[in-house]
Amino acid sequence: MKIATALVHAGTRRDPSTGAIAVPVYHSATYQHPALGQSTGYDYSRTKNPTRAALEDALAQLEGGSKGLAFASGMAALHCALQLFGPEDHIILTEDLYGGTYRLVDRLLHVPYTFVDTTKPDAVKAALRPNTKALLVETPTNPLMKTADLPALADIAKKAGVLLIVDNTFYTPYLQRPLELGADLVVHSATKYLAGHNDVVAGALVARDAALGDKLLFAQNGIGAILGPQDAYLVIRGLKTLALRMERHQSNARAVAAFLSGHPQVERVYYPGTGGMLSFSVTEAALVPQVLAGVRLCLFAESLGGVETLITFPATQTHADIPVARREQLGITDRLLRLSVGIEDSDDIISDLAQALDGRSRPVELRDPAAAHRP
Ligand SMILES: *Cc1c(COP(=O)(O)O)cnc(C)c1O
Repeated sequence: MKIATALVHAGTRRDPSTGAIAVPVYHSATYQHPALGQSTGYDYSRTKNPTRAALEDALAQLEGGSKGLAFASGMAALHCALQLFGPEDHIILTEDLYGGTYRLVDRLLHVPYTFVDTTKPDAVKAALRPNTKALLVETPTNPLMKTADLPALADIAKKAGVLLIVDNTFYTPYLQRPLELGADLVVHSATKYLAGHNDVVAGALVARDAALGDKLLFAQNGIGAILGPQDAYLVIRGLKTLALRMERHQSNARAVAAFLSGHPQVERVYYPGTGGMLSFSVTEAALVPQVLAGVRLCLFAESLGGVETLITFPATQTHADIPVARREQLGITDRLLRLSVGIEDSDDIISDLAQALDGRSRPVELRDPAAAHRP
């Protein structure tokens, strides 16, 4: 079965008693036992819930893994994965990592780590220590959209006996399946493209091997940061249109990247050519507040991967927890803006960005302040 088909059928055939096409939302916290020592397979919803199980099975199938697990957020999923490691261990992280992941490792889990430019396999090799247990990679990176050679990293990780964990939030299994490229574990903020409508916060893990899947299942149940059934339903509903959405996100992003590349106020565009995320730096810092105040269609908001185009200022939003000096070193400057290109008509996104970059909305407000308040 091709992935576009598997996506559409996520959650179908889960209720033989009624034949329901849409997966039922099981709000039951607990389940009646048929007899002493017997179970329907469901005992208590922290451990297993039928709606969440439908999502978890779909995720495992889509990523090509043996076990999928759904969590209350992407951070809860990352926490479940990274609690496998302790202060005696060492992990290697992509240097321009999602700010929340950095905060989790540095401030909460206290696992010793090294930041590495994971687009350079040799740099990863050089950072390995005898106690290195994992390599956590984001590809493309956020917000600079640098891509890593996953098969090369998988080779290094395998030889060193290190777990390769890939945060696949930006590309989704529609565009990239890390487990097929040799990774051991995939992480998602399902809040983003998988759910896709900016209406649910969710996370996921998919393990390639059953043994790792069991270890993580034990932690998921033991820690308890599970995804609720209503939210699991929303992610399944999102998955059904993922293929269509990713195609449109991508074609729109390509058009927007081409427009921005030719704009005199844009210094550089960071777009890997795949997916719906791009960043761009403007020629002067003063253009940042102008663009953020000037956009009329694009929404100035955190997050990504939803149907609406969102614009973010990484330095003070997604990456605020990364120290200033390090941000500057990485290129996350006060002139960098990030776009999650939505599925609107690309002409409308481009003309909105054009008028915001040209400062066309400002003179209108200055001449006629009341205009801004007309319905
Ligand atoms: C948003 C995000 C996370 C965190 O996910 P939440 O669902 O917000 O907890 C982790 N990694 C990446 C790449 C993200 O974009």
